[in-house]
Amino acid sequence: MSNYDYLIVGAGLSGCVMAERIASVLRKRVLIVEKRDYIGGLCATKIHSTGIEYPLHGPHTFHTSDETIWKYVNMISLFNDYRHKILDHRSELHVAHNDLWSGMPIDGWNTFFNRLVSNDLIDIKINCSYSKFMKLGKLPKYGVIYTGNLEDMAGEKIVNGIWKSASFEIENHNGFATFQGFPQVDYQNEDFVSTHEPKHYYPNRPGYESNQTIIIKQRESNEGEPYFSLVKNKNLFNNYDKPFIDTESGVCRIFLGRLPFFRNIEMDVAVKEALDVSSKINPDGFIEL
Ligand SMILES: Cc1cc2nc3c(=O)[nH]c(=O)nc-3n(C[C@H](O)[C@H](O)[C@H](O)COP(=O)(O)OP(=O)(O)OC[C@H]3O[C@@H](n4cnc5c(N)ncnc54)[C@H](O)[C@@H]3O)c2cc1C
Repeated sequence: MSNYDYLIVGAGLSGCVMAERIASVLRKRVLIVEKRDYIGGLCATKIHSTGIEYPLHGPHTFHTSDETIWKYVNMISLFNDYRHKILDHRSELHVAHNDLWSGMPIDGWNTFFNRLVSNDLIDIKINCSYSKFMKLGKLPKYGVIYTGNLEDMAGEKIVNGIWKSASFEIENHNGFATFQGFPQVDYQNEDFVSTHEPKHYYPNRPGYESNQTIIIKQRESNEGEPYFSLVKNKNLFNNYDKPFIDTESGVCRIFLGRLPFFRNIEMDVAVKEALDVSSKINPDGFIEL
């Protein structure tokens, strides 16, 4: 471990953008530890047996009005011009946002993430939580960027009832090119909150013209992995808002992303914050706080 310059905890969007910047711009060595067995965090996708790419944790459309952020993600992958549409329970159609730019990476989110971490200076350990890693691994030379659950670092539950969780069930619909006409339909008075049809995200993808589609039913629950923050008072957890120096080792520890701050953030914010933090690392590798 001692030959890594940075340890990044969590291979979601925040962690992977940080890794990409540290490796490509600063030419420093990075190890990412990820507790799941795949990268991409909430944005991860899989290919279904029908060939349709579907989101594991709910639909993720990239959208922003910040040209720097749009240029950055387009440097990693080309995007289509998809805009997410939702049919609500009163049968009214809404466009999810009115940002200047919106789209899906044309080769899919998994390819996008694989490209983010493709630099030879980046290594990834999956199935490895921070606490598991710290039992054996050593601290890196310069810094730890922590984008994971604070509970795992603290070794205890911090507060109850902060997150709502979600689950997703896939249904096959053979004999239909598309089934529900819209990417997302919201419901009231059902045991699910919405249904999603991932074919809509890539209207012109080869193979998608076939008479098969899938629908994903989204349910919400109080138990499980953290999805939606219920925190209203943003100042409640700002202890973690400041980078601080680990006094024993002199290694800098920075918190980044949605999980350490118990908040909901859109993907463009996650990218912006990672770019901002990476710009504070000086050429020697030290973070200038
Ligand atoms: C249902 C849903 C739909 C969304 N749709 C959109 C959308 O359409 N557009 C948009 O802009 N935003 C959307 N978002 C927001 C988007 O998901 C976030 O902006 C993004 O995931 C933030 O990335 P992150 O890296 O901070 O967090 P995450 O994606 O959660 O990544 C954190 C990673 O850390 C790992 N981890 C956690 N604890 C540890 C630990 N102790 N050790 C090791 N690894 C750990 C996790 O497994 C995860 O891979 C949506 C969010 C939800 C919940």
